[in-house]
Amino acid sequence: MTEDPPTSPPEPLLRMTLHGDQDVFVLRQRGREVAAAVGMEHQDQVRVATALSEIGRHAIGATVMFTAEVSARPRLVIVVEAGGIGFSPPEGTVAAGRLMDEVHVERDRISLARRLPAQVGPERLAEARHTLAQSQPTTALDELSVQNRQLVTALEEVQAHRDELLTLNAELEETNRGVMALYTQLSEELEQTNQGVVALYAELDERSAQLREANEAKSRFLANVSHELRAPVTAIIGLTRLLLDPRSEPLTADQTHQLGLVQGSAADLLARVNDLLDLAKAESNRIDAAWAPVDLGAVFGQLRGTLRPLAKPGVELEIAEPPPVDLVTDEVLLTQILRNLLTNALKFTDAGSVGMGALVLDGRLHIAVADTGIGIPFAEQRRVFEEFHQVRGAHQAGGTGLGLPYARRLATLLGGGLSMVSEPGEGSTFTLDLPLRPLSQDDTDLPHVPAVLVVDDEAAARLVLREHLTGIAEHVHEAADVRSAYAIATRERPSVIFLDLRMPGGDGGELIAAMAAAPEVAGIPVVVVTAVDVGHVPGAAAVLAKSALTRRIVADVVTLVTA
Ligand code: ADP
Repeated sequence: MTEDPPTSPPEPLLRMTLHGDQDVFVLRQRGREVAAAVGMEHQDQVRVATALSEIGRHAIGATVMFTAEVSARPRLVIVVEAGGIGFSPPEGTVAAGRLMDEVHVERDRISLARRLPAQVGPERLAEARHTLAQSQPTTALDELSVQNRQLVTALEEVQAHRDELLTLNAELEETNRGVMALYTQLSEELEQTNQGVVALYAELDERSAQLREANEAKSRFLANVSHELRAPVTAIIGLTRLLLDPRSEPLTADQTHQLGLVQGSAADLLARVNDLLDLAKAESNRIDAAWAPVDLGAVFGQLRGTLRPLAKPGVELEIAEPPPVDLVTDEVLLTQILRNLLTNALKFTDAGSVGMGALVLDGRLHIAVADTGIGIPFAEQRRVFEEFHQVRGAHQAGGTGLGLPYARRLATLLGGGLSMVSEPGEGSTFTLDLPLRPLSQDDTDLPHVPAVLVVDDEAAARLVLREHLTGIAEHVHEAADVRSAYAIATRERPSVIFLDLRMPGGDGGELIAAMAAAPEVAGIPVVVVTAVDVGHVPGAAAVLAKSALTRRIVADVVTLVTA
């Protein structure tokens, strides 16, 4: 306990002696009066009064002295002197200890202290002394009624606290119910959203399967129709040629003219049917690139010669000499792509020039075909590589809208790409980029493995892979579903498994998971072959797009995953 040095002498505020039981009431009352006079709050007044009455009950005969210390921490100090009677540690001190800040019990004296409000100074004390001198102690009955009132007030306060607590509790419960309701609602919404997402994905899967089927049907249709159309058109051309032959019976000038028109139209028709057929072939990957060293200068020269007549008056065809380059590609396909780009450029350019140039950059060959023609509206630029898409309006100039998609297909087939930039009214530039040589030029470096398992529910897809695998795998096993695939895998232990993902009997991912759990087959590399772009597949050694499958790619992936 620290004692603050008193700044004013502790001159007593009041002094009284407890002569009998009655005086205990007076002590209580005086204690409250003193506390009030020195500026204590109501509650503190009751504390002091109660503490004194607790002690007073066991201290009849004692003298009580009230003093106040005015220092940095002002406090009220009450000293109860037992005088001759002595205390046998009075019971009231325990209760008093709870009510006061300090209680010191000595053999014949008890001192109690309680802090005072900070602002209490000497003036307030002088005032208090004066007030207390004026007031007269009342009777025990008066004090009892005061005490009663205090009790009632305290009870009311307790009741008010309880009411407040009840209200708070009710509010808390209400809030809790609200939070619970919100939580329930949120989880329901989340569940619904989840269900929606699941349904959406299922629908997406279904859609992409439908799309794939539709695409395959379209390719088949294109191939069939163009085959069917080619025969009669070729017949018309042949017959017209016969009729126009000088050795045939002479025709009138009119007839000759009309037949010439028939021949021209038939040739046009044949060209378009051929376009269709080419695209259908490219789409079903029925074009195999014939890789060979290509003299790029000669290709450019040939195009220069054959296409110059197509340039409109006032349009310059400028085909620059390409750099000397050691190029291995398919000359026929390359020429087809470039002819297509140049023909378009010449078709859509009325003034200025159409140019073609080549350069080697980062180990790849870039050939640009640039024109100063009408350009392609921005909104259409993304679409010109779509099949049958033709720019509307001034652009319409015959054609099928198949040239660019076909050219892009061929570019992909050659391991390259085709891109375009165009400024409407200014012109367009199409750029073909190609690898200088295929990943591997010939079949001499094909990998050789004893057995490969091909898993696909479509027989056609299995056949394509089987063909690509000839000369690579000694045995090609086939499975149409996950269950039989697993059986074959454990029995045959193939070196590689080519696996379709979406199959009616179970997803390919299930096979990967089942194999990972079986030590005897866990190490077999699985190459996922899929029609829809699925990105990374966990557990797969590689992922290949069905549309991009070539013998070369199959060979390279086998080399890679069995290395
Ligand atoms: P088409 O047989 O109609 O030429 P393409 O696929 O080759 O089919 O071209 C599609 C469309 O792209 C063309 O109809 C044309 O509107 C536009 N296009 C292609 N090349 C050019 C070009 N160099 N300049 C302007 N428009 C072009």
